[in-house]
Amino acid sequence: SMVEPILKVTDLVVTYGRVEAVRGVSFEAAPGSLITLVGANGAGKSSIINAVSGIVRPRSGTITFEGRNITKVPAHKLVGEGLVQVPEGRQILGTLTIHENLQLGGWHTNDAAAIGEVYERFPVLAERRDLPAGALSGGEQQMLAIGRALVARPRLILLDEPSMGLAPKIVDEVFSTIEEIRASGTTVVLIEQNARRALRAADHGYVLSSGEIAHQGPAADLLADDRVIQAYLGI
Ligand code: ATP
Repeated sequence: SMVEPILKVTDLVVTYGRVEAVRGVSFEAAPGSLITLVGANGAGKSSIINAVSGIVRPRSGTITFEGRNITKVPAHKLVGEGLVQVPEGRQILGTLTIHENLQLGGWHTNDAAAIGEVYERFPVLAERRDLPAGALSGGEQQMLAIGRALVARPRLILLDEPSMGLAPKIVDEVFSTIEEIRASGTTVVLIEQNARRALRAADHGYVLSSGEIAHQGPAADLLADDRVIQAYLGI
């Protein structure tokens, strides 16, 4: 394509001891796009984005962000370079206040304006800024986890199962938020078991099966392909 991808992953392999979780996966994201990696439990989705965000060291392969090789750069350095992951299970610090959780997202810049913007986006967090984060509902905690990532002003945000465990109405809110983030120009990589929903939001989709990409294409094409839906997405 004409536009350089903001993220390019080539021949990625991730292993845990003898377990080959990711077996040679390649994909890319255009700047400002929303891509999704979908697939069953254990297909390797989390391992892939944990490798991209520097949480897991890949066995082999290359990860390029904005043209720079970041394959071995650890997570805490990538946050300062504009690549941030919202982890699976949210990982909010429940005994700290909402405000303190947001401050942690910007520890490297101490960017008060960025926290203000998060409060504008999520007024419910502003109203409760001095309460312990553990007092929030599951949906609000997901908003806080996303907000904490946005405080770092990422150019690429990776979301691991953001709809997990949430009621349908709250899932709608989370997806609206994701689409807004994308509309603001931030590139989004979304991991979801809720494949249909994720593909509806995405530009491009990658279907994972046993650590490999079984199908890929424009998200609308994957959604319209009954074989893909039935064989890999179980829906
Ligand atoms: P899930 O939705 O369950 O997180 P996933 O598609 O994200 O699934 P991964 O979590 O990447 O898949 O797991 C891929 C494979 O690697 C699975 O077989 C899993 O059991 C294994 N695995 C993941 N993490 C570890 C680990 N820390 N140690 C050993 N095996 C692991």
